[in-house]
Order: sequence, then structure tokens, then C-alpha cells
Amino acid sequence: MTSRYRRPKKQWPKVAPPIANLVSPQLVDAACVGMAPLFDYEIFGESPENQEARWWRGRGVCARCPVRIECSATAGRLGVDAQGIWAGLLRMPTDLRKSV
Ligand code: SF4
Repeated sequence: MTSRYRRPKKQWPKVAPPIANLVSPQLVDAACVGMAPLFDYEIFGESPENQEARWWRGRGVCARCPVRIECSATAGRLGVDAQGIWAGLLRMPTDLRKSV
């Protein structure tokens, strides 16, 4: 039996591919191109459960990314400016790191 009330698939806003090139020219083949909000540390109004689920989905994309090593190196170079999911790891904002 099919429901008449199907939930629409979650749509993530698209980000132009050249954005990856602004962060590092080595990330142009990144698996996350066009999926930017999926990797953000937080999205305003998002529940903790949805945030956790989103992070895990992002980690899954990172697991099949061909530039994961370059991404990790870029996150290291950016330091505290790299927040959210980078190379499959969650990088927290600096103020939260101090309180943990
Ligand atoms: S490892 Fe993850 S965050 Fe980094 S470029 Fe690839 S998909 Fe994006």
C-alpha cells in the first residue's frame, strides 16, 4: 500500500563548484561539492537529533571522497576557521572546544 502523503526528499541548497576552489585548489574533485550545508557545524533551528543525523550523513560522503587527505591538510591549515565536518571528522567551534 502506498501513502498519498509522501514526504519530499530533503533538498540541500546547491553551492557552485568553484567555491571548493576558493578553499583549496586541491579540493575541486571533492565529493561534497554542492552539498555545503550538510557539513556545517550547525544550522539555525535544527534539532540536536537532526544535527547528529546530518553529521553522520556528511561523514558517509567523506568516506568515499577522493580528496580526503587533501581536505584534512586544508582543515589543518585553516585551524579554527575549519568548523563542521572535514575529512570525516567533526571540528567544533573554538568556544565549544574550551568548554569541553
Ligand atoms: S573529505 Fe569530506 S569534507 Fe573533505 S572534501 Fe571530501 S567530502 Fe568534502
